[in-house]
Amino acid sequence: MRLLKQYINGEWVTAKSGKTREIINPFNQEIIASAAEGDESDSKAAIAAAREAFDHGKWPLTPATERGNIVRKIAGLIERDKEELAELESLDTGKTVEESRGDMDDIAGVFRYYAQIADKNGGEIIDSPVPNSISKVVHEPVGVCGQITPWNYPLLQASWKLAPALATGNTLIMKPSEITPLTTVKVFELIEEAGVPKGVANLVLGSGMTVGAELASSTDVDLISFTGGIVTGKKIMQAASINVKKLALELGGKNPNVVFADADIDTAIDQALNAVYFHAGQICSAGTRLILEESIHDDFVEALVKRVQHIKLGSGFDEATQMGPLISAEHLAKVEKYVEMGKQEGATVAVGGKRPEDAELQDGFFYLPTIFTNCTTDMKVVQDEAFGPIITVEKFKTEEEAINLANDSIYGLAGGVWTNDIVKAERCVAKMRMGTVWINEFNLYFPHAPWGGYKQSGIGRELGKLGIEEYTETKHIFHNLKPEAINWF
Ligand code: NAD
Repeated sequence: MRLLKQYINGEWVTAKSGKTREIINPFNQEIIASAAEGDESDSKAAIAAAREAFDHGKWPLTPATERGNIVRKIAGLIERDKEELAELESLDTGKTVEESRGDMDDIAGVFRYYAQIADKNGGEIIDSPVPNSISKVVHEPVGVCGQITPWNYPLLQASWKLAPALATGNTLIMKPSEITPLTTVKVFELIEEAGVPKGVANLVLGSGMTVGAELASSTDVDLISFTGGIVTGKKIMQAASINVKKLALELGGKNPNVVFADADIDTAIDQALNAVYFHAGQICSAGTRLILEESIHDDFVEALVKRVQHIKLGSGFDEATQMGPLISAEHLAKVEKYVEMGKQEGATVAVGGKRPEDAELQDGFFYLPTIFTNCTTDMKVVQDEAFGPIITVEKFKTEEEAINLANDSIYGLAGGVWTNDIVKAERCVAKMRMGTVWINEFNLYFPHAPWGGYKQSGIGRELGKLGIEEYTETKHIFHNLKPEAINWF
């Protein structure tokens, strides 16, 4: 049995309390690892190590090129161990190994991207109103960063935080989801192997209520970067106010996927499935609100239903599997609750709407890919993030109606528009209140493009150059080379 330890001040340690937590394979509920179950005292130790490494260590002052080289080395090690990492991710999350392999490529890409731009954030000389002076703007690391990640893309979400924080000279404490720590622990082994100095990158394991809450409320932490649910995000925001921490929040989404009649319909059908049933809908940017022009509605739904019936559920390790299980028994219960709610609200189950009956799936947390038709925007099943394999279908007659439906959400993470009319596409995009909008595409993200939400989907941006800005403070330095008395007083 794998024993997962915490990494604090360059040492691999068990929880101070000696407690552990069993990590479960969502495909069959087998115990796959035993993880240290840290608490506030473990968080405090990690914070102290990160504080010391930031305040008195060499890392923040290390030339950016050198830091970039270490970040690049981590990318190489991830590529070297890609197969092992992909298998661990699938074991832990239930997603297909093929999908996890794709994640690992993306993750290495994120480290490479930030390695490349680490030394391109030097600042600038600006015009000075005083002769014989230098006025310059420099970017410095924020300090000690608390980083908290969710269970759906455990290592991908971690990479979006680790790579820019390290590239910019911060020190950090990462807390992965207590349900899915396997790959994050492995990557900390690679961080150690790459030569990141002790105390710079620390890993604590345990629940959000203890380990996570301590990071959010500690006055020794300067920034919290959090990815997770909206309810947790609000708690973190409150706790972080204690010392006015900098905050980056990547929260939920309930993302519209708008299809006009003049779109390439076959491609739109194919991608509408991908937009939701990939990783069983457990994606913050899943296109769960399908918004169809009335004239294509019936044929579109019929085609979707036909294809949904052939989606193969199973083990992520079986090459034929297209969709794995949900993450946990609690999450399965939540998804079921939303489906029941949808039925009670008057939506029609066009396909799915229950657990599968296949004997070989009974030990896993499986739910059938589901489509609800006859949905209206006021339904909770349309508005709330169920985070499962559920599509709700709404209809529109006019472009204005489509945009109103798309924007009718407390969330503003992402959305898509399908049309071959480029002028209409640009008109729609300009009105859609989301951090990312895809035209004739869905769910594509890459290291160069900023990611984050409007409205209650969050604060700040990860990835791209903006991802670097989250981890830097800006300082103006004015240097008078010929000081003179002012003689006012
Ligand atoms: P969650 O909010 O339950 O947990 C996320 C993390 O926060 C976990 O590590 C958890 O232990 C920790 N946590 C819980 N309570 C805490 C507290 N009081 N203080 C500090 N930390 C605490 O979310 P989840 O169920 O793990 O993940 C699913 C959610 O994540 C969905 O809402 C999804 O949309 C969102 N998500 C968003 C993005 C994005 O980029 N916007 C990406 C992935 C997932």
